[in-house]
Amino acid sequence: FLNGFWLPVITSLFSILVSGIIISWYYKTNREEQQMKLAFTDGLTEIPNRRYFDEFMTKQWQKYEQKQQNLAIILCDVDFFKKYNDTYGHQAGDLCLQQVAKVLAESVRDSDLAARYGGEEFVTVLANTSPDAAMAIAQRICDRLKSLKIPHASSEASEYVSISCGIASTSVSLVHSPKELVECADQALYQAKEQGRDRAVLWAEK
Ligand code: GH3
Ligand code: MG
Ligand code: MG
Repeated sequence: FLNGFWLPVITSLFSILVSGIIISWYYKTNREEQQMKLAFTDGLTEIPNRRYFDEFMTKQWQKYEQKQQNLAIILCDVDFFKKYNDTYGHQAGDLCLQQVAKVLAESVRDSDLAARYGGEEFVTVLANTSPDAAMAIAQRICDRLKSLKIPHASSEASEYVSISCGIASTSVSLVHSPKELVECADQALYQAKEQGRDRAVLWAEK
């Protein structure tokens, strides 16, 4: 034994040990990445969820404060969605939300964000975007969804599934935090609903 009969074996054993360590490290980081992805992704629509939106907004807000480049958000809400579920069933409602999410995700730049805000509400975050440009994007989202012609017989706004959008931007002096930006978008969304739905409204100081 002492004459070194084990010497040829030690290299193989050492290689096996090192490979084992590398493989388990690889699976551990992969699993952690998967868990992170799951925690920040909406299960139904597979776009980022509210939690991701909150973190993304915080980061975008820091960038906005450093560079003073305009930041805009669009809050979108499906019109008469309760009636949609009542008419076509909850499963059809789920499919509809997936289609809305797809339209949103395809309508923003890779550096921007389209997320599910909750229920039948979605949000997009648009960095370095003027209020007018944000308004044009919101309009484009409305048009794209309408062009899918998803029937909605019980909607009082349109014969097809439609959304209402509220747009807010940091260009107004009243907004000092991400929370206030969301509140303004929410007020604009409320106005869009009041004005008859199926439209986009830009928040403006009264
Ligand atoms: P409004 O035009 O004023 O927005 O009317 P609404 O019916 O869309 O609004 P309301 O808040 O009354 O109803 C929202 C509905 O969205 C009720 C809820 O069951 C449905 N909903 C929320 N999340 C989901 C979901 O994940 N799947 C399905 N199928 N329905 C959902
Ligand atoms: Mg709603
Ligand atoms: Mg709704």
